[in-house]
Amino acid sequence: MEKKQFKTESKKLLDMMVHSIYTHKEIFLRELISNASDAIDKLYFRSLTDDSVSLKHDDYEIRITPDKEARTLTIEDNGCGMTQEELETNLGTIAKSGSFEFKNDPDKEDENIDIIGQFGVGFYSAFMVADRITVESRAFGEEKGSRWESEGADGYGIESCEKETAGTVITLHLKEDTDDDKYSDYLEEYTIKELIKKYSDYIRYPIRMITEKSVPKEGSEGEFDTVQEDETLNSMIPIWKKDLSEVTDDEYSAFYQEKFFDFEPPLRVIRQKAEGTSEYIALLFIPGRAPFDYYSKDFEKGLSLYSSGVMIMEKCKDLLPDYFSFVKGLVDSSDLSLNISREMLQHDRQLKVIAKALEKKIAGELTKMLDEERDVYEKFFNNFGTQLKWGIYSDYGMHKGLLQDLILFKSSYEGKPEEGTLVSLKEYTGRMKEDQEKIFYASGGSVEKIKSIPQVESVIAKGYEVLFFTEDIDEFAIQMMRNYYEKEFLNVCKDSLNLSSEEDKEKLKNENESKADMFKFMKESIGDKLAKVKFTNALENHPVCLSSEGDISVEMENILNKMPDAQGQQVKAETVLEINMNHPIAKRIESLYETDKDKLADYSKILYAQACLINGMPLENPTELSELVCGLMV
Ligand code: ADP
Repeated sequence: MEKKQFKTESKKLLDMMVHSIYTHKEIFLRELISNASDAIDKLYFRSLTDDSVSLKHDDYEIRITPDKEARTLTIEDNGCGMTQEELETNLGTIAKSGSFEFKNDPDKEDENIDIIGQFGVGFYSAFMVADRITVESRAFGEEKGSRWESEGADGYGIESCEKETAGTVITLHLKEDTDDDKYSDYLEEYTIKELIKKYSDYIRYPIRMITEKSVPKEGSEGEFDTVQEDETLNSMIPIWKKDLSEVTDDEYSAFYQEKFFDFEPPLRVIRQKAEGTSEYIALLFIPGRAPFDYYSKDFEKGLSLYSSGVMIMEKCKDLLPDYFSFVKGLVDSSDLSLNISREMLQHDRQLKVIAKALEKKIAGELTKMLDEERDVYEKFFNNFGTQLKWGIYSDYGMHKGLLQDLILFKSSYEGKPEEGTLVSLKEYTGRMKEDQEKIFYASGGSVEKIKSIPQVESVIAKGYEVLFFTEDIDEFAIQMMRNYYEKEFLNVCKDSLNLSSEEDKEKLKNENESKADMFKFMKESIGDKLAKVKFTNALENHPVCLSSEGDISVEMENILNKMPDAQGQQVKAETVLEINMNHPIAKRIESLYETDKDKLADYSKILYAQACLINGMPLENPTELSELVCGLMV
């Protein structure tokens, strides 16, 4: 056989396997059996629509054969098999499925070993126990088979061979025993049985082995005969069908991590068993972190769909609303027919009923988590909270009722147990001041930025709590909500916010009215960027600030105009320049209006630029500002 080289990455991984010091080498069996089961799944799927597959569900099996003399362990399946090219690509390169991102960093050796433990590395793990591996495979529909053979990292050979039926036979020639590792144990009936119970019990196809049993010899007391028996080693009961009490948390975690390719255990396991009009079992998981592509277009939501233990669809997206798209898991229902098509599924009433029930269940579990395990919930929220907020925004706010108590915000609240903790709307409204009618918030890129906005400073100084909207979606979501239990939201940078006494309000109103001409002059000097200029009494120390009128805040204007499809159709906030009527600058502009209008025009521009800077907005014309300020200095 001609020797071919493995791809670089595969070679590295192989090297690691061959020289592995990993103590749970036994997982190799789980990996090979899982591949065999997948291969049978594939052929079984095909049989649903292809009459040329003559095998029935009961004909499928995985067979284990230990041979002590030859020192080999053979794992055989009658699944879809592989063509010669497939053997070459599948076993010559490390899994391309993206399920396993191999870390090359030598400092991360330990972490790599951990990865092997948590969800294995597929076929190559067999090199932890074998010094030579032969794979004979025949793809369904092909006449001939192919043989692939390798002794490890220095390459593999491939050639055609005879094979009677479709499927794959993998023969491991076990390494010599050492003081630390007794590889020959893997040829013992007892060890094999134990490993299969431990790792592969729920595999839905029988894993069979010829075993030996002693039976009393007929007619002669006390004597025994050894008989051979073809024994099925796995119970074939899927983990989700077992009683809750039968399955440990670790087993659920292991199942989740292996099936959904996650390094981390799930934050929460949710199991729902429904009986009556619609019968199903759902086993759902809330992941501990967002997948790298979660907030991209490539992410596909969905739950695996099973019909009585047989998978009929890998990702059924109709089972999950977008706002719960982070949930992983499966639904197994005996009510669904096995060969139901995708189109039919979409209209399936049963499926809609299940989806509705799951939605309720997930929301309920999240609420429980928020109430009982706040730190876990915040971890969850930091990963997936944006998605919940999008959920409130989507479909014209239809899901407000379901989601409004699940969203959290950053806040100015000081009584938080620790910095960075989030608050819910229920908490916010629960401690609102008596005279406070609205829920105050302010938007900006970061907490620091928001805190330095003049209006925010003054509202906090007056003892009110302000929610900090640091995410783009925040303000859009609450605009869609409109209110939370009749309490409306108010951006503290809106010009309608006025927390002063009736008397002060009156004073301000009169002042603004009497200076209307001056403000008109100032606005015209600044240009058409502004809706108006006016006095405010809401600022503590700052001379000026920007606010907005109408529905679009300055922050929203920024976000909307940044969006890819915003070109041409620029959205404009109705921006207001507010001048602190108690600041010395107020007197100054009033006197300039009487004595030096040219200077007031320049001052107006400078004040506007200052307000932009204070509110974290970009300056349209920095050079002009620089020249104006210089003009004042010399
Ligand atoms: P993974 O299973 O994570 O994709 P593996 O290295 O275990 O990675 O296997 C690589 C590929 O080889 C599989 O995706 C599958 O296409 C193929 N393969 C492995 N074992 C078998 C088998 N017994 N029958 C058919 N194909 C197999």
